[in-house]
Amino acid sequence: MSGGQMLNGRFWITIIQAMSDAIVEARDLLTALDSEVGDGDHGVNMAAAMQAAAHQVGQLDDPLPEQVLKMTGTAVMNEMGGASGVIFGSFFRGGGRAVRGKSSLGLAEVVALMSGGLAEVQKRGKAQPGDKTVVDALAPAVTAVQHALDNQRDLPSAIADAAQKAQRGAEDSRKMVAKFGRAKFLGERSIGHQDAGATSMAIMLDAWAKRIREAS
Ligand code: ADP
Ligand code: MG
Repeated sequence: MSGGQMLNGRFWITIIQAMSDAIVEARDLLTALDSEVGDGDHGVNMAAAMQAAAHQVGQLDDPLPEQVLKMTGTAVMNEMGGASGVIFGSFFRGGGRAVRGKSSLGLAEVVALMSGGLAEVQKRGKAQPGDKTVVDALAPAVTAVQHALDNQRDLPSAIADAAQKAQRGAEDSRKMVAKFGRAKFLGERSIGHQDAGATSMAIMLDAWAKRIREAS
């Protein structure tokens, strides 16, 4: 990778693997969060889905970033099933479509990827910021990379900032009333619990940021 400024397909394989490792490490935390308001399957499902994705993309030889992202999204949809499989799968597939034909991604392409991923998640899931979902981690992360691009920041610090904002967004989800997923049946009683899906998204963005830092 050239000075940590561009992400090619091979590097993307290692990002997906780093995301998978981080999710596996957080499996019990994610399960605990989902147990408070849902059915407690999120940690196990996410870990299985990301491990399947990491395994599959590891077989690719010299892919484009879009191929790694598409394969990840498809693996996640197939492995997780259900509503959240579609949500997380849509992030990767929508992100991949937004960088079609690019062999290497700089910050401008990362903004396109993240915005495209968020747009697809919202198109499929209909959630808005404040609804206590993945969107509450993802939307602040998209704002962060856009801000970094506008201010000509470098890629590693842009992703690090996105990860930090996503983590804050996930923490802020505590105050929100769930409008989607099983947690919505709790209504006001979902207040005080951190959203599991937003936490997963923040963990994956953090793994991406760390992977870039290591390589820079
Ligand atoms: P399930 O609700 O089917 O048990 P999981 O427990 O794996 O699925 O995932 C739940 C997470 O999925 C929630 O914490 C939330 O972040 C996310 N989620 C659910 N529905 C939506 C939606 N419509 N839009 C965005 N994210 C959603
Ligand atoms: Mg669940």
